[in-house]
Amino acid sequence: MTDDTDEQRPVGADPVTAAELSVPADEPQYDCAYCDRVFARERHRDLHRGQAHPDRVGESAAAAYRGAVESERESLVRYRYVALGALVVLYFGFLVAFAVVGV
Ligand SMILES: [Zn+2]
Repeated sequence: MTDDTDEQRPVGADPVTAAELSVPADEPQYDCAYCDRVFARERHRDLHRGQAHPDRVGESAAAAYRGAVESERESLVRYRYVALGALVVLYFGFLVAFAVVGV
């Protein structure tokens, strides 16, 4: 059994949901110059242009893409450290709680 939405989408196109295309009207919008996608954040638009239209973007957009990739990488590293810290605090919190209250 196949999904009807996948059959209508061109090969290689990004999977797009209605939630991704919905940007509130009072918020700033960043349009892709090569397709009709709209983004709520400039960084997301830069990432999209670099990944979906790598052969069409100019040097400034390519530089913006590289900057967005680096920013995304730094955000992921920061997220991993925060997640690890939260897990350590949770683990030792339960360990201390069990040592004090445990039966
Ligand atoms: Zn695009």
